[in-house]
Formats: sequence, C-alpha cells, structure tokens
Amino acid sequence: MKAFVDENICISCGLCEGTCSEVFSLDTGIAVAGEVVDGTEDAVREACENCPVAAISIEE
Ligand code: SF4
Repeated sequence: MKAFVDENICISCGLCEGTCSEVFSLDTGIAVAGEVVDGTEDAVREACENCPVAAISIEE
C-alpha cells in the first residue's frame, strides 16, 4: 500500500497524524505521507476516510 497527500488540498488539521503518526507527519506544516509500514494499513485507511478535505489518496 502507498499513501499520498495532495499538498494543494491539505489544510494542516493534523487529523491524519493523530490517527497514524507512523505514516503521516506535519513537519513542514502540510501533511506528508511516508512509507506505509506493515500493520498500519487500517489506520491509513481510517485517516484517508476521515480527512475533512479528502486530501489523502491510497494505492492498494
Ligand atoms: S487529515 Fe487531511 S487536511 Fe488534515 S492534515 Fe491530514 S491530509 Fe491534511
């Protein structure tokens, strides 16, 4: 699985990082998705579904 954040849509709310800090970080103010490590897939899907502006996309 791979996760992506559209930096032009993200509003820096921090929800994805709060849901799955192993993959998402807001180091630059905008969310960035790192490698989807084993065991975090469900949390990544949850973050994707809950992003208020649908900035996260997933490649299964
Ligand atoms: S949940 Fe969506 S809007 Fe919020 S920081 Fe993550 S990618 Fe950006």
